[in-house]
Amino acid sequence: MRPDILNPLFAEVDTLDGVGPKLKKPLDRLGLGRVRDVAYHLPDRFVARRAVQDLDEAAEGEQIVITLTPTEHRGPRNPGRGPHRVLAQDAIGNICALTYFGRAAYSAKKQLPVGEQRWVAGKLERYGDVLQIVHPDHVLEEGGESLQRLCEPVYALAEGLTQPKVGNLAQQSLAILPDLPEWIEPSQFEKEQWPQWSDALKLAHKSENAPARDRLAYDELLANSLALMLVRADNRQRRGRALVGDGSRRGRLQLPFPLTGAQTRSIAEIEQDLAHEAPMLRLLQGDVGAGKTVVALEAMLVAVEAGAQAALLAPTEILARQHFETLRSMAAPTGVEIALLTGRDKGKARESILIGLLDGSIDLVIGTHALFQDSVGYKDLGLVVIDEQHRFGVAQRLMLARKGKSTPHTLAMTATPIPRTLTLAQYGEMDVSRLDELPPGRQAIDTRVVGQDRLAEVVEGIGRHIGKGNQAYWVCPMVRENETDDIAAAEARYAALKERFGDTVVMVHGQLEPGLKDAAMARFANGEAMLLVATTVIEVGVDVPAATLMVIEQAERFGLAQLHQLRGRVGRGSEKSVCLLLRGEALSETGKKRLALMRETQDGFRIAEEDLELRGGGELLGTRQSGDTPFRVADLEQIQRLLPVAHDDARLLVERDGGLSSPRGEAARILLYLFERDYGVQLLRGG
Ligand code: ADP
Ligand code: MG
Repeated sequence: MRPDILNPLFAEVDTLDGVGPKLKKPLDRLGLGRVRDVAYHLPDRFVARRAVQDLDEAAEGEQIVITLTPTEHRGPRNPGRGPHRVLAQDAIGNICALTYFGRAAYSAKKQLPVGEQRWVAGKLERYGDVLQIVHPDHVLEEGGESLQRLCEPVYALAEGLTQPKVGNLAQQSLAILPDLPEWIEPSQFEKEQWPQWSDALKLAHKSENAPARDRLAYDELLANSLALMLVRADNRQRRGRALVGDGSRRGRLQLPFPLTGAQTRSIAEIEQDLAHEAPMLRLLQGDVGAGKTVVALEAMLVAVEAGAQAALLAPTEILARQHFETLRSMAAPTGVEIALLTGRDKGKARESILIGLLDGSIDLVIGTHALFQDSVGYKDLGLVVIDEQHRFGVAQRLMLARKGKSTPHTLAMTATPIPRTLTLAQYGEMDVSRLDELPPGRQAIDTRVVGQDRLAEVVEGIGRHIGKGNQAYWVCPMVRENETDDIAAAEARYAALKERFGDTVVMVHGQLEPGLKDAAMARFANGEAMLLVATTVIEVGVDVPAATLMVIEQAERFGLAQLHQLRGRVGRGSEKSVCLLLRGEALSETGKKRLALMRETQDGFRIAEEDLELRGGGELLGTRQSGDTPFRVADLEQIQRLLPVAHDDARLLVERDGGLSSPRGEAARILLYLFERDYGVQLLRGG
């Protein structure tokens, strides 16, 4: 049970003033379902404003607060096209235009009546010979309290939300923060001179405050490490069952290729672990395309030979389906019974799979989270393989494996998302097998960075490529904060490409109806469709070796680890593959270097490490790319710096107070609940 002291934080977000059904949706899209989430929705950056008497005092490009008096409203020349401009005068007669696009013009008419003075806050720019402020951040009759705050937070938004609205919710959530006991080790706390928890949150919303941000990041990292330690400690005490195979199934496999040395070695390591009673906790680490799937298959066949069942958990529906197809055809000669179970399966089909799992007639099951719902029971689940996607906490996934009488063995697979230096801290003390060798015959992917202005040429190139009977991907960015816009852009690109190339173009994205998604993927996988337009849903694991060209739009908006994963979708066969990174015009120096790095190397380790270096220091706030780490508060640089400390701290705590019963242990329990790593606490009870 969650400690009562946290209840106000875990209340639904609509308990805050002014949140009705209408706001709930955009808030959900940002992952802000509860008061706690709002409190942890930290500003992306801050704008510092300067109050000026008149426009002469202000510089172009500066964020200012100024009193202005509207003199004239100028609508667009053609109704519905172009901006609405409000001309306004400062104290000494300088003119400035307040410019509004689209529907914002309506509010401008209301807020800025001619002849009445207003306080206006926004960024002063020059447009031709006129000074202007486009979409002022604030227009107020009185220089109220919000204008006195000259340093303003800027939050990530979703459609339907505004900065003042999110700011207001954040303030409401901060007003009800409980007093929590300190969980950070006293000497660490002392040394860093961090603020205590509730102060840290308040400070982090107020201004760029490094100690406050660090403390909050540290909390998250500590919670994660601690949960991992508890799972590990618990695992040591558990009994599993030894699985020894006789080779009868594996002997019948007819793989179309010889295994690499690294694959053979990893399989041997896994086989050894399985032969022990202590449940295996092993991580299989291997870059994209290294061939993890077949290692998983061999491991699962060992389990079946020993009379047990095995389950493979995939992070997405698409991937589960694809694994199912691949494994079913690879394993056909072995005679094992394989099933697919996802959240989408309903009715009779689902019933018969559930029965098969219970009576043991199904040997291997592939699926999504649905595999571990309460309604799913197994006759004898001996091995769980987690096709790990790095964004999820490992420990949480490990907990999924706690089904059945004895603890199953667990193999987690990951495509090296994070620098080597962090592996230990991230994965705790799991045993690691490395696939450090790619299958032979792979050719380097020819990666080029191309300006968005050459789009037409790129489309021509695609035309030639598919004209020759080759397949290609076209990837559009998809960032949670901009979800609606991004989907719209992807749909528009799809429509344009379809107009050009016809029915051979298909599309998948996260909001597509599942049936349509499957149909599109299936047509692409079996070679009926030649061009797949997709958002990042294809990032994980999709395997269509005949696709040898990938175009990635707005490549600068992706995390490098993510680009690396995406690019790994091509270069899977022996044909030469090409990856075109389309970049926008305005690209920072760092942005350029990051894309250049992609061109230069295909080594996932190196990319992760150098990306960290490129992004480290200076460019901290506002550079967070989605999908690179499993953490929401801590950014890459903080992970690098603070995770090793948090890891050691967590280990010490568990060594000294494994039951978390000392005062600090009690505080640490609260921390685990706060970050929803409380499965760690449940282990303490369940024993
Ligand atoms: P990942 O490690 O990214 O999950 P996959 O298991 O999807 O990689 O394998 C990538 C591709 O390489 C697949 O098409 C697979 O059939 C092929 N492959 C795997 N092992 C070998 C091997 N030893 N030799 C040649 N091809 C292989
Ligand atoms: Mg894979």
